[in-house]
Amino acid sequence: MKKIAIYGKGGIGKSTTVSNISAAMAEMGKTVLQIGCDPKADSTRNLTGGKNIPTVLDILRDQGDAELEDFVVKSSTGVLCVEAGGPVPGIGCAGRGIITAFEKLEELEAYDTYRPDVVLYDVLGDVVCGGFAMPIRGGYADEVCIVTSGEMMSLYAASNIAHAVKSFGSRGYASLRGLILNSKNIELEEELVKKAASEIDAPILYRLPRDGAVQQAEAEGKTVIEALPDSDMAEHYRSLARLLLEGGLEDE
Ligand code: ADP
Ligand code: SF4
Ligand code: MG
Repeated sequence: MKKIAIYGKGGIGKSTTVSNISAAMAEMGKTVLQIGCDPKADSTRNLTGGKNIPTVLDILRDQGDAELEDFVVKSSTGVLCVEAGGPVPGIGCAGRGIITAFEKLEELEAYDTYRPDVVLYDVLGDVVCGGFAMPIRGGYADEVCIVTSGEMMSLYAASNIAHAVKSFGSRGYASLRGLILNSKNIELEEELVKKAASEIDAPILYRLPRDGAVQQAEAEGKTVIEALPDSDMAEHYRSLARLLLEGGLEDE
């Protein structure tokens, strides 16, 4: 089982990227479990027809307890979708919510039940506190990738995430695999991201172009893989999915 956490600033394109990678891996015959770790709880939206699925925390709040069938939803592309969810706004700790959701998945033996080949965590990286660092330090993820553009705030978040991974890394937890450049087409974007990559001593794994195919698919509540399987963007997501499964870099 390969376990990869994808971090990045809110709005940078994590969920879009992760759900397309999940769909691409499922297309390759892999059993994929995607776990949304963002209080926004829309990680898997484009896998489930544009609708939000019930979150682990919502179910626990409403029912007091949960069964796997209450919150694990299989998408039409075959991806197993889970949303950790978040606290009631203004009350509680979002990070603690992620920990609760992870503990529930383990208690209910989700990994033995579904036997995924790949687990993808889609994690908000604006605040790298104890809770949001859980996928890195709790033995949940083996590898961390960071989605960023050339914008300052997303590079700032990338640097924070990289430092968190490295500080835990020495204790044998997840390692930093590299950056995924999700382009915003800003001036000198590649140079800015290259500079940031060298500062945190991590490679740029892949460059995803900005492409209207993403919005077109999103309008149908679908991934690009499903809505526009023959598009250039679908090919990019497939290449990134292969690279994450097999290792290496885009340039090799
Ligand atoms: P996050 O999960 O990091 O908060 P999302 O995946 O929800 O971010 O992406 C935010 C918006 O950016 C999405 O609505 C999507 O339309 C857009 N987006 C993401 N990646 C791309 C891309 N490569 N090309 C065009 N639009 C993109
Ligand atoms: Fe919880 Fe992190 Fe927010 Fe603190 S910063 S309340 S640990 S989510
Ligand atoms: Mg998201």
